[in-house]
Amino acid sequence: MLINKDIAKVFVQKASYNYDALRPIVFNMIDSVKPDIIKAQDRVLVKPDLLLPAEPRHAVLTHPHVVRMVAEYVLDKGACPIIADSPVHGDFNKIFEMGGYKEALSGLDVECREFKKTVPVDIGEPFGMIDIAQEAIESDVVINLPKLKTHARMLMTLGIKNLFGCVVGLKKSEWYLKVGMDRALFAKLLVRIYQEVRPALTMVDGVLAMEGQGPGKRGVPRSLGLLVAGDNAAAIDVVICNMLGIDPEELSTNKEAIRSGEVDKFLHVSGDINITTDFDFPETGNGVYGPRQFHRFIRKHMLQRPVCDKKACQFCGSCLEICPVKAISGGRDNLFFDYDKCVRCYCCIEVCPHGAISATEPLSGRLIKSLADVYS
Ligand code: SF4
Ligand code: SF4
Repeated sequence: MLINKDIAKVFVQKASYNYDALRPIVFNMIDSVKPDIIKAQDRVLVKPDLLLPAEPRHAVLTHPHVVRMVAEYVLDKGACPIIADSPVHGDFNKIFEMGGYKEALSGLDVECREFKKTVPVDIGEPFGMIDIAQEAIESDVVINLPKLKTHARMLMTLGIKNLFGCVVGLKKSEWYLKVGMDRALFAKLLVRIYQEVRPALTMVDGVLAMEGQGPGKRGVPRSLGLLVAGDNAAAIDVVICNMLGIDPEELSTNKEAIRSGEVDKFLHVSGDINITTDFDFPETGNGVYGPRQFHRFIRKHMLQRPVCDKKACQFCGSCLEICPVKAISGGRDNLFFDYDKCVRCYCCIEVCPHGAISATEPLSGRLIKSLADVYS
């Protein structure tokens, strides 16, 4: 088949985390994407998903063996890998220990650190300047290593969304606040960050993926046994949606990437392509809709909202800390959510170490919908 060189190529490969089996798979996939991606002495940023402290069995973080194989590949080329991210919550060293990276990377000459320094970049209207991790902007090569997970707000977090980790620390909350409940605007922000960081390679870890209400511990691990790689993260995200049986444009970041010309419908996909038809996606619902005068009512009584399961909550305070609008209050006995303030960013769901918060549709919303169904 004649393939136009401009058509994005995506490689799909069956894989397990077995060290000996994984190494040649990862090396071959990178070589297939672009054999000359890395040159000797290059400073190479390897950006996994290091969301919060979690063991590999929870499928919250990019598996440490995938990170190790990519680091080995970089070292093999005589380049210098830096493994870095800005976790949403928790201590970086704890993530490294609990996530199995400390053990997996032992003996390798790699630098591992949390993003701290930033560089201001202009990502255009309506956002203007944004501070992005220095390593993501100044490294010679960026390798993006997302985990294949569902996301209670954005439906999924894949290649493009993983780069939001390049926005350092609490700056993420500021952006949640700026975009508010507008999911399309958040998707636009994510695509602009992707365009700025422009990873040379993206490899999505879908060996042990996550379904349900991800991307934190509320999600449910799901074995898909897949690695998906390419030089165009937007194309990878489109292919993954197709493989999971949904219209790619259901993912707002795909819609925005297609709209902005990052990816078109002509893709060259090769490898072990299977369609999974029973993947459990979260119900993300619509944002605020209808006439402006009803927005407050809709937001309070009809929109999905975070709800705490008292039995599971250990009152650690992480959700109170992360909430960008301080909509959560309470103490040892109960948590209260101010749904007037809440922007449905679902950071609280993301960070809860006990998976105690879920996005739930209020009873009033369910009743109004059932009535609308009856009379439609
Ligand atoms: S809901 Fe989760 S994050 Fe919030 S206080 Fe309870 S255990 Fe901690
Ligand atoms: S309560 Fe949860 S979903 Fe609402 S704004 Fe705060 S962190 Fe976001």
